[in-house]
Amino acid sequence: MSIELPELPYAIDALEPHVSANTLEFHHGKHHKAYVDKLNAAIAGTSYEGHSLEAIIAAARDASDAGVFNNAAQTWNHTFLWHSMSPNGGGEPTGPLADAINDRFGDLDGFRSQFKQAAMAQFGSGWTWLVQTADGLEIVSTGNAQLPLGNGVTPLLTLDVWEHAYYLDYQNKRDAYVDTFLGKLVNWEF
Ligand code: FE
Repeated sequence: MSIELPELPYAIDALEPHVSANTLEFHHGKHHKAYVDKLNAAIAGTSYEGHSLEAIIAAARDASDAGVFNNAAQTWNHTFLWHSMSPNGGGEPTGPLADAINDRFGDLDGFRSQFKQAAMAQFGSGWTWLVQTADGLEIVSTGNAQLPLGNGVTPLLTLDVWEHAYYLDYQNKRDAYVDTFLGKLVNWEF
């Protein structure tokens, strides 16, 4: 059993004009696919084969197996990213999540400000996350393929800040990309 590239949860042009079909064709169809293909090549015939993606990530992390870990984690991160955005995104969260954000960040603008600060401060490639911990919500950034999964931490949202995520649409303007994610794309339903 191999790991499969999931379909996007929306049409390739559904996030336009904020994320172009051109970007998604490369980001999903080339980058995400390459992580899946490299992962399957790396695990074929090994003890990883046949396990869930989460189990492969945990085992490769424990074994300091960077080749498997990086491709498995990037496979997971991108699937999570597609769901963190929506054609009907932006707006405001409701219910318990809204309460938790207000408790932790003061209000939604406080969350947006701290999330943007974290995304801008991530030097080079990585990810910015909203996560649930035992102590409540936290914003964290991770480098390269790293992800905040396990040890009582549950990811709630992520933004890809690798340049391949935004360069075709925003060039070097990561701040405009982060603002657009927070204002127009973030999928609070997810
Ligand atoms: Fe990416």
